[in-house]
Amino acid sequence: MPIYEYHCEDCTTTFEKLVFSTSGTAVVECPKCGGSRTRKLFSAFASSGSAEATGGTLPCGRNSGGAFT
Ligand SMILES: [Zn+2]
Repeated sequence: MPIYEYHCEDCTTTFEKLVFSTSGTAVVECPKCGGSRTRKLFSAFASSGSAEATGGTLPCGRNSGGAFT
């Protein structure tokens, strides 16, 4: 399921929302102010930072340069 980022022009909140249809015509309401003046931002899948995306510290806590290649 794709997660899109939306920006509310009323309260300038940026939020993420799961979107089930790809038509892009559905009105997405801002969860903060309830406004419908939201704009879809184009980002890849969830930007909620995971270590996989940045290639930094491994989830298990080891530093890279270990045994697995
Ligand atoms: Zn809002």
